[in-house]
Amino acid sequence: MQHYSGFGLLKHSFSHHENWQRVWRNPTPKKKYDVIIVGGGGHGLATAYYLAKEFGVTNVAVIEKGFLGGGNTARNTTIVRSNYLWDEAAHLYEHAMKLWEGLSQDLNYNVMFSQRGCLNLGHTLQDMRDIQRRVNANRLNGIDGEVLDTQQVKEIVPVLDCSDRARYPVLGASWQPRAGVARHDAVAWGFARGADAHGVDLIQQTEVEDLIIEDGTVVGVRTARYGEIRADRVGCVVAGNSSVLAKMAGFELPLESHPLQALVSESHQADSRYSGHVEPSTWLRVAIRQRRFGDRGWDRQLQRLWSARFLFHY
Ligand SMILES: Cc1cc2nc3c(=O)[nH]c(=O)nc-3n(C[C@H](O)[C@H](O)[C@H](O)COP(=O)(O)OP(=O)(O)OC[C@H]3O[C@@H](n4cnc5c(N)ncnc54)[C@H](O)[C@@H]3O)c2cc1C
Repeated sequence: MQHYSGFGLLKHSFSHHENWQRVWRNPTPKKKYDVIIVGGGGHGLATAYYLAKEFGVTNVAVIEKGFLGGGNTARNTTIVRSNYLWDEAAHLYEHAMKLWEGLSQDLNYNVMFSQRGCLNLGHTLQDMRDIQRRVNANRLNGIDGEVLDTQQVKEIVPVLDCSDRARYPVLGASWQPRAGVARHDAVAWGFARGADAHGVDLIQQTEVEDLIIEDGTVVGVRTARYGEIRADRVGCVVAGNSSVLAKMAGFELPLESHPLQALVSESHQADSRYSGHVEPSTWLRVAIRQRRFGDRGWDRQLQRLWSARFLFHY
């Protein structure tokens, strides 16, 4: 794998950046793999990367019906935090947070992880009780967190109307300083590049239409583009399509997929009173955060989310 560095950037500038190695190959799939992963989103690609890196399992294919990272991974609001209430969730997300903290170095790819802090605003007394409970639980789990009052919120985000006149007055917030944002596409591309470097085949534009089942065991997948591809193990990392894949395997998941949509506003970076922290309000269903890599104007997703391919800009 070509190593990325400032020196490399300088070196390639002499050849007008025309000689960079392709970030990943575009292979024709083999007839059989040790592992097939269906779904080339952030999770599928991370699964392939860590299988290869941590466990030496490199005879792996990731099969993606669209383009890599084009599902939920391409359209989320990029908040990274680990201040979850329940122990199981908190430990899982805290483990992920620690991976995030070293991810750009590990992948040698800038995923633009920026730990600018996350405030969860409270607008009612019950909100504040829930915030207190969650922060206490976080601290017992060794996760950074604080309960802030209105004045402390105002100091962190001067642009916020924290007055009594506000329709939903800000009574306080939980604050996780280590939380932040990342660039979603870069995460997918970084994992894809890392997996490819370990020999993982990334097969795009190939939908898994069915699973091959022999003697009650899944032994491969059927695709329209390449026919049958066999494997000792098949992992399905398909987010909202999980129940569809489960059905192919002959069982029903007790899950129902619902669309989740984000309406993204114009940039507020020009306002010097905006600090750049992430400020979600569950009550208002609104979150403020500015990504260093630019915002996208108003986005609306016009198709079912788990089948959406594009965002429409206007
Ligand atoms: C609007 C929105 C906002 C969000 N905000 C946040 C946030 O702020 N912070 C956060 O942590 N999370 C957020 N999330 C959640 C986060 O985006 C997802 O949890 C994450 O991206 C899921 O990754 P994934 O790889 O599991 O799924 P996906 O990225 O959806 O990847 C699944 C892939 O499987 C492919 N696939 C499906 N069926 C098949 C098939 N039959 N054959 C081949 N390929 C198939 C799809 O094409 C897709 O590319 C948000 C999600 C949405 C929608």
